[in-house]
Amino acid sequence: MAKIHLLDNETINKIAAGEVIENPKSIVKELVENSIDAGADEIIVEIKGGGKDLIRITDNGKGIEKDQVEDAFKRHCTSKIESSDDLNSLFTLGFRGEALASIAAVAHVDMITRTNSDLTGTKITIEGGKVVSKEYIGCPVGTTIAVTELFFNVPARKKFLKSDGAESGNINEVVVSLALSKENISFKYINNGNTAFRTPKTDNLLNTISSLYERDLYNSLLKVDYESDVVKITGFTTNLNYYRGNRKQQIVFVNQRYIKHKRMSYYIEVAYNTMLPKGKYPACFLKIEIAPSLVDVNVHPAKTEVRFQNEELILNEIKRAIFSALHSVSIIKEVKGEDVVKDNRVSKNKGNSIFESFKKYESVNNEDSIFESPAHDEYSNIKLTEIKTEYSENIFEEALEQSIAEEKAIVYEYKNTAEDNDTMSVTELSPQEQYEPVQQSFTEIAEDESKLPELSVTGIVMDTYIICENMEKTEMYMIDQHAAHERINYEKFLNQYNSKEIIIQELLIPEVVNLSYEDYHAVMSNEEIYENLGFNLENFGTNAILIISIPNIFRDSNIKEIFYTILDSLKSANKSNINLELDKIIKNACVKSVKAGDRLHIQEVKALLKSLGKTENPYTCPHGRPVIIKMTKYEIEKMFERIQN
Ligand code: ADP
Ligand code: MG
Repeated sequence: MAKIHLLDNETINKIAAGEVIENPKSIVKELVENSIDAGADEIIVEIKGGGKDLIRITDNGKGIEKDQVEDAFKRHCTSKIESSDDLNSLFTLGFRGEALASIAAVAHVDMITRTNSDLTGTKITIEGGKVVSKEYIGCPVGTTIAVTELFFNVPARKKFLKSDGAESGNINEVVVSLALSKENISFKYINNGNTAFRTPKTDNLLNTISSLYERDLYNSLLKVDYESDVVKITGFTTNLNYYRGNRKQQIVFVNQRYIKHKRMSYYIEVAYNTMLPKGKYPACFLKIEIAPSLVDVNVHPAKTEVRFQNEELILNEIKRAIFSALHSVSIIKEVKGEDVVKDNRVSKNKGNSIFESFKKYESVNNEDSIFESPAHDEYSNIKLTEIKTEYSENIFEEALEQSIAEEKAIVYEYKNTAEDNDTMSVTELSPQEQYEPVQQSFTEIAEDESKLPELSVTGIVMDTYIICENMEKTEMYMIDQHAAHERINYEKFLNQYNSKEIIIQELLIPEVVNLSYEDYHAVMSNEEIYENLGFNLENFGTNAILIISIPNIFRDSNIKEIFYTILDSLKSANKSNINLELDKIIKNACVKSVKAGDRLHIQEVKALLKSLGKTENPYTCPHGRPVIIKMTKYEIEKMFERIQN
């Protein structure tokens, strides 16, 4: 058996590298943090091929002295702490002295660096942990590090790298978070030769946010400024006019360190106290300052974890900070952007006061009918190429149209057998006229196709629930019209998608969507998926896209809302099983396609029930909520105590 022995340095570094350097994203993070620690106020991040082909960071920081350049690449060599005592008063991002050693162990690294006091700089090349060359050259003060041939000597790790798109998506997130963490540093981010964004050197985070995010978000920001004995919380959070389908725009720094904290998100959302629709989350940019001794940063360096000594206390302070921002009118005025929003995707930022939004929300609170707010009209009047029928105002237009079309077909047959040749005259009648006489013939012929029993409609309560009974008058049914419509839309869209026959509606006036770079990137790298779903998109300059056409099924919906819903689902999608994810995406989009609160005409109810009966599963909505509830006569009589036991 082999003897126990100490591993050589090269092997130790290679093993350790696995922990610190998992992927291109972690390299970018470590290198940029070094630039920040070096006091740079200009940092350029450049990547190619999702960071697999090149990661190059250039800074104007203080550089490394000639005689220390090699030490910088040695494990546990750092200039940032002297002993463990310093950990409690840590104000630099790095302190382990592991990053450069780890990166150099698994890649080809070129570094050029010069300090202010040196006349010439150093150029060093290290590969697999070994110095390949070192020379003195003329160069500006600061440091440039280029990493290529990542994991050339660790094939197992190389194999686990994701696609260029996925890796660069992760890098985007890190660069954005770093840029937000330091508004006083100008960041330039170049991806495959294109400048993705450039943040200004500023003392106001608002300027940084505006260079990184879409105008809709920017225009919804409320200032957060809160201080107590234990914490200081500053930054911005969005008002009720803005929300997203995931928490990716909740960006939190604790003592300048980008962190993720699930419970914290929960506390932030509690401050919004159900004022946002279910499953929707605010965006926020929070900088939390807290005595270093109350936070444990000595968790895994590649992770964004953080532990607070008194978590409950800190989280409650954060909740309070958000709450007071949401209720502070004067602050809202101060934050409001100068330019009026033209294309707020959820609703127009009409007033400065959040209370206005509150009111708006309260009045429609009980439903997804927030989209019924006046602002929604801006989108509902999008002009479509299609000529609308008199039913076009109605959400069940499609169901109705379909049933009319089918009825026509049935009448055609029916009349044919009745030896009437002039059947096509039916189409010349107005829809209303067609409807009545045809109804009976339809009921007679097509009823057996339905998955639901034959029902007679008694009425609609609360503008939402359709009350029916069966023909035998032994069962009562309640049908949630929104859930029913979601189910119908979902199956229709899914069928169209599966048979690759999505009916497309071209927009008369294409819709411009301004995005953050991160979102833009996500859209462009998923363009094909959008296309398969029936959305034709076009590049529209820096971080903007044009929606040219949409699936017909969404033609009366808030297009941006659906577009963002798909985007958010795509961003959180598990790319390895995109088919499964697409089902989820289609579900989410179809839920958004339903306008709420419409009072239905009895004929429309019938058309709806008919379409519902033809779905594969008329019993639940795409997300599993019930569509139809049955009560038997027995149950009702028991409630009235006509029957005992
Ligand atoms: P750490 O950041 O934990 O100290 P690193 O391995 O990342 O460890 O870096 C090692 C040392 O190299 C740092 O302590 C710092 O002195 C020096 N260094 C690394 N990057 C830079 C840079 N961009 N500018 C100046 N010095 C740097
Ligand atoms: Mg470091």
